[in-house]
Amino acid sequence: MAKLRFDHLFTGSAWLHDAVLTVDDGGILTAVQTAADLEARSDEAVEHFRGCALPGIPNLHSHAHQRAMAGLAESSGAVDDSFWTWREVMYLHVGRFTPDDMQAVAAQLYVEMLEAGYTAVGEFQYLHHDPAGEPYDELAEMSLRCHQAARQVGIGITHLPVLYSEGGFAGLPPTLGQRRFLNDVPRFLRLVERLEKERDGSSAVGVAPHSLRAVSPQDLQDINQAFAGRGPIHLHIAEQGKEVEDCLAWSNQRPVEWLLDHQDIDASWCLIHATHMTDAETRALAATGAVVGLCPTTEANLGDGMFNAEIFRQAEGRFGIGSDSHISVSPVEELRWLEYGQRLRLNARNLSAGGAGRSTGRQLLKSVLAGGAQACGRDIGEIAVGKRADVVVLDTDHPLLCGRFEDEWLDSWLFSGNQSVVRHVVVGGDIQVREGRHRLRDEVAATFRKTLEGLRS
Ligand SMILES: [Zn+2]
Repeated sequence: MAKLRFDHLFTGSAWLHDAVLTVDDGGILTAVQTAADLEARSDEAVEHFRGCALPGIPNLHSHAHQRAMAGLAESSGAVDDSFWTWREVMYLHVGRFTPDDMQAVAAQLYVEMLEAGYTAVGEFQYLHHDPAGEPYDELAEMSLRCHQAARQVGIGITHLPVLYSEGGFAGLPPTLGQRRFLNDVPRFLRLVERLEKERDGSSAVGVAPHSLRAVSPQDLQDINQAFAGRGPIHLHIAEQGKEVEDCLAWSNQRPVEWLLDHQDIDASWCLIHATHMTDAETRALAATGAVVGLCPTTEANLGDGMFNAEIFRQAEGRFGIGSDSHISVSPVEELRWLEYGQRLRLNARNLSAGGAGRSTGRQLLKSVLAGGAQACGRDIGEIAVGKRADVVVLDTDHPLLCGRFEDEWLDSWLFSGNQSVVRHVVVGGDIQVREGRHRLRDEVAATFRKTLEGLRS
């Protein structure tokens, strides 16, 4: 059991001052109190953190291996560069990726996430097989390497192994570049069961049929039935205009419209991107209780388009954030892009605040904490009894935050600059980041450097 004391603490719904958290040996919060409530507190060993604490942010959408190619697809390789030309660069890049490479890159990525304030990741992992497309002796090898990386550096993880079986709508055959991703439903379910054996307090398992273009309606149905009640279901949808056109040509329906018509979508689902929706689709999706996984920096980088956030917010839709291709690893940047995109689109300010006198930062954080927790299928996203003790502490002495109080700290974290104000990060009661540095930063970075040299030689 441990006791952690914070000068100021945002629980996710309320502010406490001089707060003390009690954490059991399993990393779960057993009490949330103010110091004044504690009896005989001077007798107890309490670690005191200065600054302003808030729940750790869940990062609900990650393809860890893509961290190694961030910045390497920014010179024009085609007359009309697009998501689809980027995808070819990515396929080339993953061609040589080994299990050791996966573990080294994931560990580096997860250290960066923790230092940025993310305490949980949803790992949407599709690179399953060896470079020739043959399964490894251990079917779940690549996902297990992500698991080991997460354990090593201390981030919570929700495994989202991906079912990928087709090259496009209407059963288009997969391309050579996709051979490392492919499984049929029975083998995929064996992979899922293998991962479920590793499940513990800091991890969970969901499934991820990749997208409507990569799985058949029958496969989607089979996965949904086989996995019902076992964990979250994630799916990429309506990311690109061309995807909408192809879906219309195939089914005479738009992707979100088709999905809502053919699957019973509920709160166990997380739809990644959902960029291209009509207002009617947006309202219908909001009503299901599913989470939309927004990845604004990746969506901007890939030229995907802009999410219909204002209509979705008005319909009380749930959302979280992910860093997806990892061209940025920062909840600040994701949330800022989300809000600024809407401001540019609608020529208005403080849209996410959702009403007069409300803080934009607080509302954004509140939404992505709840949405991220739901999509990750774990008891996180809130500082409350029964939840994991995942806490981020901001440095209130930092010039960007000084002279602020309560919600102003949250607004200033998101909207006042680019220097990191994340001072300490606690995951499941364990301190992973102190004074802005992860305990394994140098060691993990050294292995990552060697890995990158190998991949680029
Ligand atoms: Zn993705």
